[in-house]
Formats: sequence, structure tokens, C-alpha cells
Amino acid sequence: MHFHILTLFPEMVMDGLNTSITGRAMKNGHITVEATNIRDFAENKHGHVDDYPYGGGAGMVMQPGPVYRAYEYVKNQIDERIKSSQVDSQVTSEENSMLENDGDFQKKPRVIYMTPQGKVFNQSIAEELAKEEDLVLLCGHYEGIDERVLEMIVTDNLSIGDYVLTGGELPAMVVIDAVSRLVPGVLNNDVSAEFETFHDNLLEYPQYTRPEEFMGRKVPEVLLSGHHKNIDAWRREQSLQRTKERRPDLLSD
Ligand code: SAM
Repeated sequence: MHFHILTLFPEMVMDGLNTSITGRAMKNGHITVEATNIRDFAENKHGHVDDYPYGGGAGMVMQPGPVYRAYEYVKNQIDERIKSSQVDSQVTSEENSMLENDGDFQKKPRVIYMTPQGKVFNQSIAEELAKEEDLVLLCGHYEGIDERVLEMIVTDNLSIGDYVLTGGELPAMVVIDAVSRLVPGVLNNDVSAEFETFHDNLLEYPQYTRPEEFMGRKVPEVLLSGHHKNIDAWRREQSLQRTKERRPDLLSD
């Protein structure tokens, strides 16, 4: 799976994502992450990409031109990769010409604008996004981005919660992290993403590891029994109880 981030702060997202599980997923080739600096597409030699809002008001707004050119650059890269993988898979020239006419690389990529005005991100959206081959994540800054370019390129608006952050970089990292761990091979244990919080609208059961006793608190007896049916039943019960207590809204969905 290929993530493409359009941002004014590429080092911020790359430093974060190069660490731990997402970093390993990149090294192993399960995902690719590329951050394109919108400032590289500025219209002036000073690299300014923002200007005062028409109609007045506080703050600055990101101009449409640099964002659009950065998007076009990324879209061309995606098209080139798809074209070359089609050539690599040695499609016949007849098939190839059909693909040239209406092939994948002519499709608009899915472009997600990270915005507090978007639909609130959750696990089922992560599962849906994990089916895509390419995702473009657009990060705003300052007061946001000129509406016209958003109308032209954005396919989805996503928020990570009802609060306002200074930029879309942390939200993009949140989405990439949650989606990546659903990509086959990214987690060591492929089943672990299937049996955890939000699966079946339940929170996960409590987890324990060694030692068996910690400061007088013992691991629940059933987990030491080796009786898998009882363990599953106990865990299911704990999940239900925990969800009722902490997130009753999940049970009414
Ligand atoms: N003026 C905008 C508004 O009221 O909707 C907020 C702009 S915010 C200060 C700057 C950028 O941060 C946004 O363009 C967006 O990319 C990002 N951002 C802020 N909060 C976010 C959130 N909760 N979820 C996703 N992106 C967010």
C-alpha cells in the first residue's frame, strides 16, 4: 500500500512514521510513505504558499496553486507506477492499449483532506481505506486551504476528533498508522488486528503477562488453566462488561 502525504512539514511526518512498526513496514516493503513538500511548488522565489483571506479575518490561508501542483506531481507518480507495473506484468499489447484508454492510472486517486470539518475517523473507516492501493493525505496549516482547490481534488474529508490542531500532519500520521496495521504482513501476528478493540463493536478484554503475581495482584486463574474454551468465554464476558462500563455507545450502534 502506498501513502502520499502533501504537507508543508515533510520531516515531521517522516520522522514519526519511520519509527517502530510503521518504520519496519516501510523497510520490509509492506507500505511506502512519501511526503511531498507543498512549498516546493510555490509560485514565488521566497517559497510563500499562504496569503490573507479574502473578506478579511484572522490568520492566513494556503493558496490553491502550490497545493494543486503538488497534487498533480503525486498523481503523475502514481500513474507512472501503475503504468510500469502493468508493463512488468507483461500484458499483451492489445490489453495494454485497452488499459491506456480506461486504465487505473487515469482514475483520480483517493485524496483525503485532514480537517476538523470532516467525518470523524474510526476503525471501520480504517478498514475501508486499507483496501486502497494508494492514498493521498492532504495536510492543511494556518486557517486551512483555499476552498477551490479542495473542490477540485479532495474525495474525502476526515477529522481525527472534535478539537482543532495547528496542522493536518498529526491527523495524517494517525490515519496512516491505523490503516497500515491492517495491511497484511505489517503486524507480526496477522490475527492480532482481528481480535482487538472495536472489532464487533467491543473493547478488548484485559491483557496480562509475566509475572503471575505483581505486588499482591494475581493473574486471573482461568488464564493459567490452559482451557481454551473457558478462556474464550471469560474474555468475551470481560469485553462485554468493559464495553458496557466504558463505551455503552458502541453497544447501541
Ligand atoms: N480554520 C479551520 C477551521 O475552523 O475548520 C481550522 C484550521 S486548522 C488550525 C489547520 C489545519 O489543521 C487544517 O487545515 C487541518 O488540515 C488540520 N486539522 C486541525 N484539526 C484537525 C482535526 N481535528 N482533524 C484533522 N485535521 C485537523
